[in-house]
Amino acid sequence: MDNQAILRFEGATKRFGDFVAVDHVDFEVHNKEIVSIIGENGAGKSTFCKMLTGVYSIDDGDMYFEGKKVSYKNTTESMKAGISMVYQERNLVGMLTGAQNICLGHEPGKGILSEQKAYERAVEIRERLHLKIPLDVPVEELGAGEQQLIEIMRSFYNNPKVLILDEPTASLGEGEVEPFLKFIKEIRNEMDIAVIFISHKIEELFAISDRIVVLTDGRNTLTDKVENLTQVKVITAMLRTGKSYG
Ligand code: ADP
Ligand code: MG
Repeated sequence: MDNQAILRFEGATKRFGDFVAVDHVDFEVHNKEIVSIIGENGAGKSTFCKMLTGVYSIDDGDMYFEGKKVSYKNTTESMKAGISMVYQERNLVGMLTGAQNICLGHEPGKGILSEQKAYERAVEIRERLHLKIPLDVPVEELGAGEQQLIEIMRSFYNNPKVLILDEPTASLGEGEVEPFLKFIKEIRNEMDIAVIFISHKIEELFAISDRIVVLTDGRNTLTDKVENLTQVKVITAMLRTGKSYG
C-alpha cells in the first residue's frame, strides 16, 4: 500500500445479511492513473464502488482519500470531496435537456438552476471535455453514446479528482466503444484526475488500463500493472474455482 494514492481502501468489506458481497479488498488508485476493475456479474464491482461514494455503508475496512481517513454517508459528501461516479443504471431524465440533466441535483435546496445558468454551466463542462453534444434537446432524443457522455459531463459538475465509471461501455454500440475509450484516456492525460473503470470486457481493459484489479466472488484475486498481465492470467483469476487452465 502506498501513501501517495489519492484513494485507498484497506480491507473493504460489505455484507448483505450473511452474504459477503465485498470481502476484505485492498485497493488504491493514483492521480492520472486508470485502474480497471474486472469480474463476472455479481463479483461485487458495483457494490465496491458504491462503498467509495457513500451509497453503501462500510461494514469493515478503512478508506483514505488524499491520505485522510474518510467515510461518506451519501453521494453528496463523496461528490463534495471530489469523487464522482457514473452508475451502471442510467440516471437521466429523458424529457429534460442535456443541460438540465447535467445540473440536476447539483444545487441542493435550489432544485433546478435557471435555464440560462444551467445551460452556461453545461457549456463550460462541454468545452472542458472538448465535446460537441447538443445540450438544448431532450436527452431521450440522443443516441446511447451521447447519453453516456451527458452522464459523464454531469459527473464533472463538481470537478472530480476521482471519476468512477461503472460499465460505461455496456450501452454503447460497436463503433462507439473505441472513441469512448480514447476520450477517457484524453481526460486522464489532460486533467488531474484518477479513473476507476469497470467492465467485464477484457479487450477494453487492456486498451485503457494502467492497472487491472480482478474481483471474484467479492475477493481481490489479482492486481497488477497491465504490462505484467496477459488475458489468460486475468481470465484465470476471474474463474470461480480459482484453477488455472493457462
Ligand atoms: P457486479 O457489479 O460485479 O456485477 P454487484 O456488486 O452488483 O456485482 O453484486 C455483488 C453481489 O451482491 C451479487 O451477488 C448481488 O446479488 C449482491 N447484491 C448487490 N446489491 C445488493 C443489495 N442491495 N442487497 C442484497 N444483495 C446485493
Ligand atoms: Mg455491476
